[in-house]
Amino acid sequence: MFGNNTIGVNFMYCAFCNSFKEKGIWLLGRFLCRECEKELTKILPVNPAYPFIVKRFRNFFLKQKQLW
Ligand SMILES: [Zn+2]
Repeated sequence: MFGNNTIGVNFMYCAFCNSFKEKGIWLLGRFLCRECEKELTKILPVNPAYPFIVKRFRNFFLKQKQLW
């Protein structure tokens, strides 16, 4: 599920920061890297970066909706 195999570590494409990362979680069928996961938890509660982050996450979930 996380893309690991016996040969080595696969780098998964994070749909949030648009880069390949080794570690992360699956969220609604999309890969969310550990850095973005931390970023998400950091914005709760609201901080100055919140509007920017929310916009990125809105894109993230809109992309996901299109797959449904
Ligand atoms: Zn990421």
